[in-house]
Amino acid sequence: MATKKKFLVVTDLDSTLLDHNYNCDEAEPALACLRELGLPLVLNSSKTVAEMENLAMHLGLHSPLVAENGGLLAIPNESTGDYSVQIKGLPRKEILEAAHNLRCQMGYKFEGFADWSDQELAERSGLSITQSKLSRARLATEPISWNDTEPQRLEFADQLGVLGIRMLRGGRFWHLMGAPDKADGIASALEYYQEREPDTDWLVIALGDSANDTAMLEAADIAVVIPHADGAHISPKAPRVVHASFPASKGWNAAILLLLDECREHCST
Ligand SMILES: [Mg+2]
Repeated sequence: MATKKKFLVVTDLDSTLLDHNYNCDEAEPALACLRELGLPLVLNSSKTVAEMENLAMHLGLHSPLVAENGGLLAIPNESTGDYSVQIKGLPRKEILEAAHNLRCQMGYKFEGFADWSDQELAERSGLSITQSKLSRARLATEPISWNDTEPQRLEFADQLGVLGIRMLRGGRFWHLMGAPDKADGIASALEYYQEREPDTDWLVIALGDSANDTAMLEAADIAVVIPHADGAHISPKAPRVVHASFPASKGWNAAILLLLDECREHCST
């Protein structure tokens, strides 16, 4: 059976597809090309499904969303546009139960999204109340603010580890989560498209800018590294690594257009 080669594009959001003001207008030429060619674009972020839905709608995407750092896959229903969610790691309920039990028993000092109202999260994070509400709609991760000593934190992290829960440093908060990461998001997306188009030979392009994107880029066939404004960049090892010439959406646009041009010359899409 003849196999057709097709790109599957998987992308990080903040500082990759989105500029600091959450805008991706500069990526529009490349986004339009992907739409015309019918190539899937999968958003893979630490954000919640609730936070990603609007952007997906704005971009006219009908692809699955990988949310909460690979912790879940949200699959769109073709007729209603609603998403059905598959938890890939641990449900947040279990994470909260374990963390709160330890807090009770050991007296650790920390507070997390589950302890705060939308208003309190807005005050602590600088998000608007609406954004806080979307960000608190978590299903597979719990961000916390650690108010205890570092030795206590290490002990807490060890105790969580026994239960299969990881504690990772994010920008402002520590994140409690199960085993999956953004690289598992690529596997989930690939599995989804392989099932739908079994005769296609999918070539995965992943785009990202931060340390927490490295594993995702290393799981791709082509890794596109988006530099930060000061020129700093991550250095993943992938079969092919492309360094975008500009930060965020402008670099995203240029890199995707370049790869699509090459494909027009060499592939028979
Ligand atoms: Mg990013």
